[in-house]
Amino acid sequence: MNDDEFPEPFGPQHVAPPSKDCPNCPCCSARLCERGRQSVMRCSGQPLRDDSLMQLVSGCPCSAETTEGTHAWRLAQIKITRHATERPLRTPAALLLRALESADGEDVDDPEDMLGMLKAYGYAATTADGRPVITPFGRRYLEARTEQRYATPVHVDSVDLEARTAQVVVIGWHVEQRVTVLLDQLVSESGLQPDRLPGAFLEAEANCRVETGDGLVLTKIRVGPDVPDGASPDVGQGEAR
Ligand SMILES: [Zn+2]
Repeated sequence: MNDDEFPEPFGPQHVAPPSKDCPNCPCCSARLCERGRQSVMRCSGQPLRDDSLMQLVSGCPCSAETTEGTHAWRLAQIKITRHATERPLRTPAALLLRALESADGEDVDDPEDMLGMLKAYGYAATTADGRPVITPFGRRYLEARTEQRYATPVHVDSVDLEARTAQVVVIGWHVEQRVTVLLDQLVSESGLQPDRLPGAFLEAEANCRVETGDGLVLTKIRVGPDVPDGASPDVGQGEAR
């Protein structure tokens, strides 16, 4: 029988693995995961050839916000940092999170019923046997509450429109090493469109004592003051010749 002539609307063909399987997940094609990693909408937010695929790919680990390096992960780090530094948890919720951090499997008191809120933020979860535990995001929140943040110049080296990223040098962290940041964060916070960003000097706050570039989280990004002539080898090169 010719399948094309008698399509089965809810048949297995709609959830059949796409032609080029991703080696790292059971649900997506390699191409879908590549796009999902570079989108805060993850794999399930990409245009899919069939809506019924959305549920299948919604839990894809390759693009998950819990997987380091994905756009969703970068956005989560920004949100958590802003939460911790700009409008932190109320005391009872913060106390419960601290208690979960040090509980190590022991029971924790929750007199004000704050666990639901911590779970909604993704800072706590319940194990299969019903115990509340802190998540990596919860630990990151607590870390962001106490880590020092510094005002630093940020030089934009280049932007990648397709990947929606920018390569920047965060001077207060390292004067040469480039780090990857979300292009849309730079655009929305600085007010500069992508074509004006390469070569721009911005200012931001950053956790400049982290070891890796991926651990850097920029907040409060704004256009920097004018740099004096000759202060940077990258500035004004074009005009001098
Ligand atoms: Zn995927």
